[in-house]
Amino acid sequence: MSTTTLPAAPEPLPAEVFDSHCHLDIMVGNRQASSGDSVAQAAQAARASIEGILDDARAVGVTRLVTIGYDLPSSRWNAETAALHADVYAGVAIHPNEAHASTPETLAEIEELARLPHVRAVGETGLDYYRDWASKDDQHASFRAHIEIAKRTGKALVIHDRDAHDDVLRVLAEEGAPDVVVFHSFSGDAEMAKKCAEAGYFMSFSGPVTYKNAGYLREAARIAPLELILVETDAPYLPPVPHRGKPNAPYLIPLTLRCVAEVKETDLAGLAAAVSANGETVFGAW
Ligand SMILES: [Zn+2]
Repeated sequence: MSTTTLPAAPEPLPAEVFDSHCHLDIMVGNRQASSGDSVAQAAQAARASIEGILDDARAVGVTRLVTIGYDLPSSRWNAETAALHADVYAGVAIHPNEAHASTPETLAEIEELARLPHVRAVGETGLDYYRDWASKDDQHASFRAHIEIAKRTGKALVIHDRDAHDDVLRVLAEEGAPDVVVFHSFSGDAEMAKKCAEAGYFMSFSGPVTYKNAGYLREAARIAPLELILVETDAPYLPPVPHRGKPNAPYLIPLTLRCVAEVKETDLAGLAAAVSANGETVFGAW
């Protein structure tokens, strides 16, 4: 990814919206691991870069975002960063690809972080059958532990589901789902969207909904009830069309939102208002 080829800013939105899932630490390069800085020092050092990311986003109507942890250092960093920026909330978790790191000690600290006031989600957690970086046994144990943490802390559960729809739904049903469940970067078809809608799970649509070969995602977006829809970038990954192959950032949310509005045949401002209201249901008041 080259910073010399940053995508141009899209046309601003007619109403404010937020990015339900991005990775600020990966976007700015969390230097804590290599520098030996404390978490607080590392978050402080990134402050200016994050203000830049927020300014670019605000300029097109994306006024808030949720930055998501994937391991313990990332979760600590994101929690610390959310404390420093009023428009930023954090999610904390051990990613399914890192599930072997979900020891009792690690999970205890994730739970401690999840109780912080500006941490509003337990995630991303879930199941990833596309990669075999962690065994299925480790992934299932870690996912179940995160479901329990979400229930104990009353925070939203943010799910990473890659090629694992049936097992994710089954584990949620077996454990008893927390009050608020979000399928991040929703990757199911209309059938899966129907199942999620019936269970009251939120579906967060990302760049791939704009991809030419992803008609099944647009079908899912079309039938997903307005009151269960979120949008996200998953930045720096998954940039929407026409910026595939370039670094993603929250200011590109309008491209994804416009695509969802077209598919649902709703007006953009109305969809933005619905997504913002859903954001408060999921993550609480800002
Ligand atoms: Zn992510």
